[in-house]
Amino acid sequence: MKYLSTHRSSPPVSLSEAVIRGLAADRGLFMPERIHRFDPSYFSTIHHFSFQEIALEVAKLFFGEDIPLEDLRSIVFDTLSFDCPVVPVTETIWSLELFHGPTLAFKDVGARFMARMLRYFLKGETRRLTVLVATSGDTGSAVANGFLGVEGISVVVLYPKGKVSDIQEKQFTTLEQNITALEVDGTFDDCQRLVKAAFADDALNSKMALTSANSINVARFLPQAFYYFNAYARLREKGALDGKAWVVAVPSGNFGNLTAGLFAREMGLPVNRFIAANNLNDVVFQYLKNGRYEPRPSVETIANAMDVGHPSNFDRILDLYGHSWETITSLIRGYRYGDEEIRSVISEVYQKTGYICDPHGACGYAALRDDLREGETGTFLETAHPAKFTGTMEEILGKGIIQLPERLAAFMKGKKQSIEIGRDYASFREWLENRE
Ligand SMILES: *Cc1c(COP(=O)(O)O)cnc(C)c1O
Repeated sequence: MKYLSTHRSSPPVSLSEAVIRGLAADRGLFMPERIHRFDPSYFSTIHHFSFQEIALEVAKLFFGEDIPLEDLRSIVFDTLSFDCPVVPVTETIWSLELFHGPTLAFKDVGARFMARMLRYFLKGETRRLTVLVATSGDTGSAVANGFLGVEGISVVVLYPKGKVSDIQEKQFTTLEQNITALEVDGTFDDCQRLVKAAFADDALNSKMALTSANSINVARFLPQAFYYFNAYARLREKGALDGKAWVVAVPSGNFGNLTAGLFAREMGLPVNRFIAANNLNDVVFQYLKNGRYEPRPSVETIANAMDVGHPSNFDRILDLYGHSWETITSLIRGYRYGDEEIRSVISEVYQKTGYICDPHGACGYAALRDDLREGETGTFLETAHPAKFTGTMEEILGKGIIQLPERLAAFMKGKKQSIEIGRDYASFREWLENRE
């Protein structure tokens, strides 16, 4: 299958090129030229299959023309070494828990899949590939852990010194092997600027193979469709969708997760409608309201992985629906919540049901609470484990309630190893050229 740029001013490319390049030559995002639909009969038996089996069927529709079945099977099965269960919160609202992977956030699925797909495409390549990733916290850990130990690939994580939490920092500075952490004396924007400068540096790129692992890569966002299909199967199995219409609420930042859900629906998944739940970074909420899309600088909130002022995947949503505001608003409603509301939702859910939402998942829950109608079953994506935000969670719920999972505790015991660099491009370039 070919991949087209959302800008349509560069030629279509193969899957392997789309994955290795990340972004199209005209700076647009890659879209598959076609979306294959499941035979509708698949949905009458889907609940008899496991998560991995369902994911493989989804992967075959996206990637089956480009990757032989056995290779695709091992990429998919190896990626999904953990479950994404649905858990009841109220009679009509279910949580889709996406935090059971190595770094306790949904980004593990896409990062692990992309690492394995890249390794597949790089077979026979003699040059080492270097993945550069700038992070303000969570992307760095998902990418570093996703690529850990993957042969032929080195990962360099750039992060702003003193500006990520201890637990986030430990998740990408304690890994060793093929992962190096660079502690940049600057802000997240400086880190991102350094990475962009390296990609734009032709002389450097002729000497070494560089790529990016950010969330716009098709190998990161498409696999996120897997868990929507599995959620449907597991809800069916539990009888939660009998005679009900299914509504899915997605806490959104860069809109990769929601876009993957929309792709799943285009493949035939019976989702009735979606809700995009935002924090105060609400440019898409505004678009849904009045048809005007006006990116602006992000503001800080307690759901900080959604602090995005210019969501990159929004272009994919526009492209998918031919830029039709009418179509988009018939499928997606928008809600947005300020920090105070997020805090009160977290306490309310905990008091009423005993369930603990993290600040991102809480936006999804709130949107269902506020929007679900008679005859509907709702599912919100619980995008990260609440223990990733222990400080905020303890301010809201008090101490002693949030348990640190074993995997997080293990990271905390590791020894931090990082290399400090300045924020100027010359020192970054010099380091890249002279490393082992
Ligand atoms: C990245 C992230 C989001 C936002 O997801 P998008 O796909 O960028 O919309 C939401 N919650 C958490 C915990 C995240 O890490």
